[in-house]
Amino acid sequence: MTGQLKICIHRGTREIGGSCVELEYEGKRIVVDLGLPLNAELEATELPNIPSIHSPDGSLLGLLLSHGHRDHWGLLPKLRSGINVHLGRRTLSIMAAAAPFVPGGYVPPSAVAYEDKKTFDLGPFRITPHLMDHSGFDAYGFLIEAGGRRLYYSGDIRGHGRKAALFERFLVAPPTDIDVLLMEGSSLGRLAAVERFETENEIENRLLETMRRTSGIVLVACSAQNIDRVVSVYRAAKRSGRQMLVDAYAAEVLKATDTKSIPKPTDEWSDVKVYIPQAQRRFLKEKNIAALVDTYKGRRVFPEALPEEAAKSVMLIRPWMLRDLALARALTGASAVWSQWDGYLKEEAGIKFQEACRVASVDFEIIHTSGHADPQDLQRFAEAMKAKKLVPIHTFQPDQFEGLFANVARVVDGEWFHA
Ligand SMILES: [Zn+2]
Ligand SMILES: [Zn+2]
Repeated sequence: MTGQLKICIHRGTREIGGSCVELEYEGKRIVVDLGLPLNAELEATELPNIPSIHSPDGSLLGLLLSHGHRDHWGLLPKLRSGINVHLGRRTLSIMAAAAPFVPGGYVPPSAVAYEDKKTFDLGPFRITPHLMDHSGFDAYGFLIEAGGRRLYYSGDIRGHGRKAALFERFLVAPPTDIDVLLMEGSSLGRLAAVERFETENEIENRLLETMRRTSGIVLVACSAQNIDRVVSVYRAAKRSGRQMLVDAYAAEVLKATDTKSIPKPTDEWSDVKVYIPQAQRRFLKEKNIAALVDTYKGRRVFPEALPEEAAKSVMLIRPWMLRDLALARALTGASAVWSQWDGYLKEEAGIKFQEACRVASVDFEIIHTSGHADPQDLQRFAEAMKAKKLVPIHTFQPDQFEGLFANVARVVDGEWFHA
């Protein structure tokens, strides 16, 4: 007698963040994502109640990580050693590059890299990763087969980023005969069914307008790990005849993409340069990674040169860097663009940043688009997949699924169901 594939969403049926799914077949199990809930502290958050996660009983065969966002990997530091974490090769290199720079940065000690569309087995589970369009670089959905059943986990997806063509190709020939689709719904409740998100191309054009009308430096506050956005900034910079300046953190993340088409401070990209703020110079020494700066030789812009370079430069910044740029007298005629979630503007660093812009007479505007699919692209995704059962995940609005998609089956956190 053969067993049945069983599924438990430990967290994610009614929230964005902390995603964690356990799959079980004949006493063997795998876990998909192990995220930190939004606004949660690592120390104060318990691991989900999964057999073998605390002490080995041989049943947990590994953990699949869909991409490098903390709402998907944030609880990994609590995982006992000896459990393999399977993730994209570039996700791993970006996590490693970012780790010294970000609070709570982490690299899984037993990491195993998977490749797009290269099927691999973990015991009775057959897994095929599918590279997707998302604001997180190297993000995947998973086809998971066991005991003759087929489950698809969407991961975080969108259809309006720089990998939009990939999204369209996926819709033309998606995995077939899907019994259960776990699909994200981040945009539900944020956007009406008829509204669309701006595309990364539209973001690029708006950035270009700002760069063209600004006489001084253009500062773009965005996540260096939102590689699509960095590419939009770079392309707009190039079109406006400007160079792109990045700090050591962004430089290391961009290098870690190990992707030919991504701009980075290396020989092939003469218009990408490195500016190291004073505070970062101290930080690099403290962390014992000051030798990094040697690798930027010949590509540095120093504070004394900045006032002169400002008019032909765009800089990726984080809010704390503004003070450094003011001290370098580089803000005459400058513009600042907030190119990340506007919720951060209500937090202390965001409020201070806007205030500092006002004091320094720096123009401020928001140019941003979501990392997640709008409802129409989610509908196209669901229609293409034709799953027998569509289970909401990674959403604050699971109740909206029934009105938008076919075959919706809602479940609750911690409850087991059959595929
Ligand atoms: Zn994500
Ligand atoms: Zn997410």
